[in-house]
Amino acid sequence: MTCLAQLIYRSKATPLFRRGDLSGFVRAIALANQRQHLTGMLLFDGEYFLQVIEGRLHSLEELLGRLKNDHRHESIVVLSLDGIKKRSFQEWGMKIIPLRSQAERMSNWNNATHEGMHFSLPENLEFNGDARMCSIVDGFLQGRWRDDCSQSVKRPHCGRITPARTSRTMPSNTLGIGFAFQPIIDSSSQSLRAVEALLRGVDGQSPAEVMGSYTGSDLYRFDLESKAIAIEQFAALGVSCDLALNVLPMTLEQMTDATAFLIDAMERNDLSPEQLVLEVTEEEAITNLQVFCTQMKSWRANGIRVSIDDFGAGFAGLSLLSEFQPDQLKIDRLLLRSIHEHGPRQAIVRAIAEFCRELGIELIAEGVEQHQEYRWLEGVGINYYQGYFFARPEFQGIGEIRWYE
Ligand code: C2E
Ligand code: MN
Ligand code: MN
Repeated sequence: MTCLAQLIYRSKATPLFRRGDLSGFVRAIALANQRQHLTGMLLFDGEYFLQVIEGRLHSLEELLGRLKNDHRHESIVVLSLDGIKKRSFQEWGMKIIPLRSQAERMSNWNNATHEGMHFSLPENLEFNGDARMCSIVDGFLQGRWRDDCSQSVKRPHCGRITPARTSRTMPSNTLGIGFAFQPIIDSSSQSLRAVEALLRGVDGQSPAEVMGSYTGSDLYRFDLESKAIAIEQFAALGVSCDLALNVLPMTLEQMTDATAFLIDAMERNDLSPEQLVLEVTEEEAITNLQVFCTQMKSWRANGIRVSIDDFGAGFAGLSLLSEFQPDQLKIDRLLLRSIHEHGPRQAIVRAIAEFCRELGIELIAEGVEQHQEYRWLEGVGINYYQGYFFARPEFQGIGEIRWYE
């Protein structure tokens, strides 16, 4: 069965396009589209395009592939690609709708919607769009997304590299484990904000492999006792930043005096409890909400900070946040992947950044791998980063850090 679908994307015209012949360009697209039974419209405000295009799903997917190599526009952001029951556009091909000023953009659209979703836009385009599409077009016309695009147009430049450091005198331990450390950087002050300790087996086994050999109360005991090793290894690195540790919330409930244990381990290594940040994943926190809230008060009372890890990966992040507000939030890597070309992720992350600002929660972007992702995230005002783009985890050390300006 062939599936009728609709693609909506936003892009930016390159000088190549602006110097070219607009109507010739549109005629060529219209012809090509006709051949493939693609219909749609193209809004253009002199700088950005919004294109709605409809046809068979596989034709649209092919088109999307080709668009990325079309040098007449760049910064392509897909806002929607979904099945539709019927086409919004009556005629084949493509019509361009030039939009000149913000006022004109708004008035065009408002007049149009007032006429009940079925109207003639400039150039007499017959159009019958559904509510979802109208609202996406409306968002384009309102232009709030522009702030993110315009703030950081330059490609980040790698200014300096901090060399890796490892300690040759790393203390050994009876649990047969080690920790890899990954930097969390502050891009605004170009400084090391924290390092996160990541559990490893002595032969480099993953956290899941190491923890998989423990069950029941042994798991919680291991989870806590291993932290003393993480703290000791961190101290051996001789850096003065914060230390982020991953904990299971049940560990802190099951192991009496867990908080005292952690504070003691910090102090024995000449570190302050105020340097400690405990990371709990969204999913673990919500399934043990009562425990978690009680624990959190006691951590905070001792100067220990709390971070929600992998925010957005689980199922209850927002209801969790409405119950209590952590010191930090780490946005899950999956929400950030290729964010520079993904409209829905942009809308979500922009909203997260906004409520974190309003609630005074520090926001960390985790798992940043590409310079375009970083550039986009800088644009919405995120200052804290962790990811391969800056530095990889290093076993019992701190890897090379690349600083971007
Ligand atoms: P996490 O706390 O979210 O840690 C970040 C994970 O993302 C790490 O994987 C890190 O290596 C990886 N990562 C960082 N930057 C990038 C990037 O740019 N791209 C990609 N693809 N990955 C990146 P790792 O070390 O395998 O840890 C997996 C998870 O295991 C951790 O996720 C954490 O939830 C858990 N974990 C690690 N150490 C401990 C521990 O000591 N105790 C407990 N309870 N859980 C731990
Ligand atoms: Mn973590
Ligand atoms: Mn995480």
